[in-house]
Amino acid sequence: MNPTVQPHWHQRASQLHIDPRAFIHGERVDVHGWGRFNSINPQDGAIVASLPSCGQAEVDRAVESSRKAFQQGSWSQRSPYERSRVLLKLADALENNQEELALLDSLEMGMPISSALPDIQVAAGIVRGVAERVNQLSEQLLPSAPSTLALNLRVPHGVVGAITPWNFPLYVAVAKIVPALAMGNSVVLKPSELASLSSLRLADLAHAAGIPAGVLNVIPGLGTETGRLLALHMDVDCLSFTGSTNTGRVLMQYAAQSNLKALLLECGGKSPQIVLDDLGDLDAVAEAIVHGYVWNSGQVCVAGTRILVTRKLYTPLMERMVARLDAQRSGDPLDAATQLGPLASAVQLERVASMVEAARSSGAKVVAGGARDEAMGGCHYRPTLVAEVPHSHPFMQEEIFGPVAGILPFDSPEQALHLANDCQFGLAATLWTRDFYLANQMARRVHGGPVTVNAVARPAPGFVTGASVEPARVSGFGSEGGMAGLLAYTRAKNVQFRLA
Ligand code: ADP
Repeated sequence: MNPTVQPHWHQRASQLHIDPRAFIHGERVDVHGWGRFNSINPQDGAIVASLPSCGQAEVDRAVESSRKAFQQGSWSQRSPYERSRVLLKLADALENNQEELALLDSLEMGMPISSALPDIQVAAGIVRGVAERVNQLSEQLLPSAPSTLALNLRVPHGVVGAITPWNFPLYVAVAKIVPALAMGNSVVLKPSELASLSSLRLADLAHAAGIPAGVLNVIPGLGTETGRLLALHMDVDCLSFTGSTNTGRVLMQYAAQSNLKALLLECGGKSPQIVLDDLGDLDAVAEAIVHGYVWNSGQVCVAGTRILVTRKLYTPLMERMVARLDAQRSGDPLDAATQLGPLASAVQLERVASMVEAARSSGAKVVAGGARDEAMGGCHYRPTLVAEVPHSHPFMQEEIFGPVAGILPFDSPEQALHLANDCQFGLAATLWTRDFYLANQMARRVHGGPVTVNAVARPAPGFVTGASVEPARVSGFGSEGGMAGLLAYTRAKNVQFRLA
């Protein structure tokens, strides 16, 4: 072990009891499924766990268990108040177990422990926000003749399938399943094969907090096996997914081929950071822009990887960004001082390296990074900035999922907006300026759900929990967060009573 690495987290990691078994109907179960797969620590290549890939029998069992629980009503028929009380206990349990949950994510996908811990706190905040809001929802009594009582209701879908990615394993699982549960649904969750362990522990904690057997099942497995079976299942009413646009397209086909299940898709992004005039402190802005695409080693759907800069600030801003990129502290994710961990897998490292090479060989100028971080080993890639790359180049148009971005100058806000929206994705956007009149105009016209002005779109403990966002274009559809994010896990229903 590197002597500069604080032993605390390594010690905790070596003491972890890892249970890779599926969680079905209120307990951990041994399953055979398709066979097994390994999750690999991208820092040192060690096997973290060998997990079962659930097959048809287990997917059927999990969905059946969820359906039965939904119909029996031990959760679905409870009042929002009763459900919110259980969710508040789950929030406490997340905080009480934050070290273990953060460690599991860190070991499986390489997130620095310094980020993984606050992530669990943010997840606990999401649960508390949902628990509060579910008690504030109201339904409608419609104007009608005195002989009629007409109600507009929101009812749960029933069984919700959730398929989650590896970049924020616990956080995304919580952001999906908790609103679904709050509205009375039962959930079958298939986490990413790269990082399933924190989701399995989430099921243990939810059950201990009072979520009845069958209301939350977690089935590990490969996407093309377990995920496909869940998405094709005839008894799953709604499928909520976060991941790549390609998989989102496949899931739409599966929904069409099976039972037309409702879909919520949060897919890829290639988000712009637009740097306008009137910035204030250029050093602070350069720091924040870098953070906006290198945190979590750039493996963030909303990472601001197309940096569009007003021409007069282009060179000074780029110089400051390069200085900060070169100073990023890469290292062992279990060292509490590490800012930048490895990429989550060798496949991801290969993709990032090849996209930078493609830009370089087409004449672009790599002004920072642009190579594997040999000193760090593992799947580390140096934080990178690429200039003079045409906006139409795949480097500027495709989601890469690494600490790499391109930078381009523009001559007018209108041109900046044109460039920002000249992309198939529409997930998020960031504007940098103190000209709030201009920022307001542009925020309304730029594609994307969350638009941040003078801030990076990164949830932090104590963040605004009521925000509702919905992706645009090939970034997907369906609301997340806030009241709209709760209603997304329901259907509209109208009930009319003839009273006379
Ligand atoms: P990434 O390329 O970033 O890993 P993916 O979209 O492949 O993103 O993965 C996100 C989630 O989707 C993971 O849980 C993965 O197992 C799942 N998945 C991948 N392919 C399929 C598929 N064909 N059907 C269902 N789920 C899938």
